[in-house]
Amino acid sequence: MSNKTQLSIIIPVHNEEENILELYKSLYNILSLVGKTYEIIYVDDGSTDDSFEKIKSIEDARVKVVRFQRNYGKAAALSCGFKKSKGDIVITMDGDLQDDPKEIPRFIEELDKYDMVSGWKSKRYDPISKTLPSRFFNWLTRFITGVKINDFNCGYKAYHNYVVKNINLYGEFHRYIPALAYWRGYSVGEIEVEHHPRIHGESKYGVERLLKGFLDLITVTFLMMYKKRPLHMFGGIGFLLSFSGVFISVYLMFLWIIGERIGDRPLLMLGILLTVIGAQFVSLGLIGELITNSRNNDDYIIKYDSYEMENGN
Ligand code: UDP
Ligand code: MG
Repeated sequence: MSNKTQLSIIIPVHNEEENILELYKSLYNILSLVGKTYEIIYVDDGSTDDSFEKIKSIEDARVKVVRFQRNYGKAAALSCGFKKSKGDIVITMDGDLQDDPKEIPRFIEELDKYDMVSGWKSKRYDPISKTLPSRFFNWLTRFITGVKINDFNCGYKAYHNYVVKNINLYGEFHRYIPALAYWRGYSVGEIEVEHHPRIHGESKYGVERLLKGFLDLITVTFLMMYKKRPLHMFGGIGFLLSFSGVFISVYLMFLWIIGERIGDRPLLMLGILLTVIGAQFVSLGLIGELITNSRNNDDYIIKYDSYEMENGN
């Protein structure tokens, strides 16, 4: 039998020192039953506690750790894990013991039918201050993206490898992975998963994250429609505005030629404004185009990487 990795588990970690070993043990037990060759990738997203030391203390060659220079957020951590993962099947889960490893076999089974499968925390053990905004959020995201799943926010998800290699995450984009995948043409399934209350450590998500998430929903929507061609949106609006501006100016010029006073007309201001704003929009579209086509570098810096260590660097 080849020693090809069949399954990669990715766990983003930010200050979870008390959860690391317990989660590893429980994963170890379940994965032994699953019977696939696997790797567990912890991405230490700038923890300031002993999370990194705890992960390093695990004596198991299948456990990998990538440590970030500082805290870049869950999206960056997942993105990094996606890049590193070698398994044909990739599963992401939170490192706080709220996601139960016993769901892994069900995820794998469901992947026979879909390109990716998202977890749905139908019964959540989180305060209402979190579940209520989250419900609104899921509704809005469903409405805007057209992806008919119940829970976008759940960190517990499973993918075929080809899906994760084709998704680029930053900002709060991890909330929209199903939408990003769906937009790429992949099928998205959903299974209900059991959710446990957080016992150790603190949740890092507050209202301000939700706000950022909302702004990213706008970006995602924009990306879905105009990712490759920002100029097509900005340029279209820009030319329309400029054209109206020029039209007004030509009209005013005509009045000026036949000897009318035009200096005190509000229309003059409007004509100039529209022309200038329109030109701005076209330039914005062009800049967007340039950025889109040159943006390929990661947003994070890696401080420690067990994959590099293995290669003898
Ligand atoms: N996390 C991370 N970087 C961050 C914030 C969180 O890697 O900046 C990790 C965290 O350690 C956990 C997962 O992402 O494993 C989910 O975080 P949390 O439990 O705080 O979110 P919640 O379950 O409250 O939505
Ligand atoms: Mg949590």
